[in-house]
Formats: sequence, C-alpha cells, structure tokens
Amino acid sequence: MGDLDFEANLKDGIAVDWPVRYKDIQPWYDYVEKYIGVSGQNEGLFQLPDGVFQPPFEYNCLEKSVKKRVKEVLGRDIIMGRTAHITVEGGWKGRGTCQTRNRCMRGCPYGAYFSSNASTLPAAEATGNMTIRPFSIVTDIILNDDATRAKGVRIRDAETLETHEYFAKVIFICASTFGSTQILLNSTSERFPDGLGNDSGELGCNVMDHHFLVGAYGTSDDFKDQTTKGRRPTGIYIPRFRNIDEKSKMPNFIRGYGFQGGAGRQGWWRYIPEAQFGTEFKAALSQSGNWTFGITAFGESLPYHENRIYINRELKDKYDLPTLTMDVEWKTNEWEMRKDMKETAVEILEAGGLRNVNAYEDSSNPGLAIHEMGTARMGHDPKTSVLNKWNQIHSVPNIFVTDGSFMTSASCVNPSLTYMAFTARAANHAVEELKKGNL
Ligand code: SF4
Repeated sequence: MGDLDFEANLKDGIAVDWPVRYKDIQPWYDYVEKYIGVSGQNEGLFQLPDGVFQPPFEYNCLEKSVKKRVKEVLGRDIIMGRTAHITVEGGWKGRGTCQTRNRCMRGCPYGAYFSSNASTLPAAEATGNMTIRPFSIVTDIILNDDATRAKGVRIRDAETLETHEYFAKVIFICASTFGSTQILLNSTSERFPDGLGNDSGELGCNVMDHHFLVGAYGTSDDFKDQTTKGRRPTGIYIPRFRNIDEKSKMPNFIRGYGFQGGAGRQGWWRYIPEAQFGTEFKAALSQSGNWTFGITAFGESLPYHENRIYINRELKDKYDLPTLTMDVEWKTNEWEMRKDMKETAVEILEAGGLRNVNAYEDSSNPGLAIHEMGTARMGHDPKTSVLNKWNQIHSVPNIFVTDGSFMTSASCVNPSLTYMAFTARAANHAVEELKKGNL
C-alpha cells in the first residue's frame, strides 16, 4: 500500500483517517520483504510502491506480447506478480529456491514459499524461548483490577474442554481479523460491557473484503510453436489505474481495482467436458491446446459502519462458546466499480490482441476473497477507533492487535504484507515501550 491508500479516507471524507502514512511503514515493508523473501520487480509506480525484491518470475511469450500491446494502446502497465517465493540461487535463510512446480498451497516441501512452518516458527524455536500450546482456544482476555492493563488470556482446551489461564506483560492478538475481534467482543467486563476496548462502538464494525470474480478471458492464435516450462507459482498483475489522479477520476465510484491473471496453453483438461475415446482422442490429449489469457479483478470495498460481525450468545459452537454472526453487504460503490471492472477487462484483452474475448462475472459475496479487514480499526481518536497508530488498544495499551482487523481502509492490493509490516513495527514498539517501563 502507498499514500494513495493511506490518504484515501481523509481525501474522500470516508470513515476515519489512517494515523500512519507510507513513510512510517515503508521501512517495515522493507524489513519484512528482506526477511520473508519476495520475488518481483521495481516498476516506479506511485500507486504500487517498489520494495526489496528477489528476481521476478518470467513472462511467457503471450504475456510479453500482450504487455507490450496494452502499454502501446492503452498506456497501462502489466507487471509480474510479486510473491513470497525464494528465487535467488542457493536458497535464502535456510529455505530452498523455488522449483516452479506450484504446489505451494499444500505447504512447500522446499520452504521456498514463505510460511510460518518454513520460516518464522523455526526462527522462534531457535531462540529457545518458544512454547506452543496447541488445541487452545482463547476465550477472553483477563484484565487487572482497574481494567487499564491486560494480565493474561483464558483458554479452553479443544480436546478436554478444561479452562486454563496464562499470564504475560504484553499480549499480541493476531488470530485473524474475525478471530481477534471475536476474542475482544467476548471479553466483557463492567468497564467494557460491549467488548474489550470498545469505547468507540466500532469493534466488529467496518468489515471490508475485496470483491472479485469478475474479469475476462480470450484466446490467441500466435505462438503455436511455443509452450511454458514448469508451473510458475504466480501470474501477471495489472496495478490500479482508476482514481489515481485527476485524469483517471471516475464519475460513479471512488477507489479502484487491480487485475490478476496470466496466459498459458490449454492442456488435456480441455477435453474433460466431452466423453470421448479412441486413438485420435488419445493423440490429441498429448498435444497442447490454444493459448488463453485471463484476468480477474480485485476491487477495494469501503468501510461501512453497519457492515459488522457480532457475538451470538444464543448459538453456541461445539466447545460451548458463543459464535460469530456476519452481517455484511456490498453497496453502490462496489456495484458500480464491478461494472467498470467487467468492461475494462474486455478492453484490456482486446487491446492486447486476443480473440474471442468474453467477460464473466460470478457472485462475490463478502468473505469469499478471504481478505477480511477492519473490525478493530486504527485511528487518531479513541472515540472513533479501537487501536492507536502502533496497533495498541487505546484504553488498554499492553494489548496489540496486528492482523487485518486494524485496517482503516482496504486498498485493492492483497493485504498480508501490510499486516506483517505493521506487526513487525508493533513488536518493535512493544519492546521499546517495555524497556522504557511504559507497559
Ligand atoms: S512452486 Fe511452490 S511448492 Fe514448488 S518449490 Fe516453488 S514455492 Fe515450493
């Protein structure tokens, strides 16, 4: 994210202003990128700041051709997707180099794709200070007598259903956006009857996600003599180009979207819909099909106070804990943006020289993009936000909340790197404050 995102709420008069700017978080993006290893390329784009990158993956022949044409015809950039894959020869911090086999979602056997299993947990273990207690569901936070500091957490053992308590000077809640908010909402007391740190009434509100599953695809008759090698674990990215300056202002929606996509040759699976058999069919299966190119948009959603999650004390889960109810809808800005995503996807592919270009749109209900954000937002003012600019709960500063719940607006880019940068910054701040005796 860049200042286009951090300044957006203030400029648009939406929700509350971010209490940070890009200059505050930029060193922490660099810190995280160096640590986790991110492949990509510096492009000099204001709307998608550069970083510290390992070598990018390569475009295939059709992507190169479409990239060139789209730049010439529309002036828009197509760049290689930036991903947390090790691409330097010889590996990185004990992790292997990516073999381009694309089994990352199963947990990379080389540790080439960043994950806690491959990277941060081994690092924590190496300190000798790590204790992991599995099967532990945090039910609530224990406060001190005057409710100004947290003392510890209460957990329910998922196997025995026993309750245990653990105590600490500082508590980081990083249980995923809804998980963290659920813990806070469930931590009620005389001082915080509506959830811990909820003086503002914003805890659980302002749910955001990206809306997606709208785009286009087309085919190409070129490059019949070429194919791809390996399974590149990323695709191309088209950075946001709407509402980034005066020229690109849209009349019917604010904010913007980017496209993720890529090109490849069709394989044997193109025959799945047809029940066939015989020698010719078998021979055809061994040949590559047409080149295809597809793009899918990921759009920013706005933080609406009434889009919220709340504790349902009537409906309990199998651990006898209250469940969470989600009440969220897209509104006019998202629906108007989707119309433009669809039309623009077709325009881009046609400009790229593709044939048989078709738009598509599937329903994209909130939550489907699994980028939930915003339910304990940060802000300048305790009356309108839950966290301060260091991710501390305004009224209980030894609790830090560092997953997507702190997000004040959503941007249209994938959010994990931002969560990690804010987490690293918050951890550093916690150490400094502990040393000063402030926590
Ligand atoms: S493609 Fe994915 S699973 Fe395979 S080596 Fe690379 S990161 Fe690991």
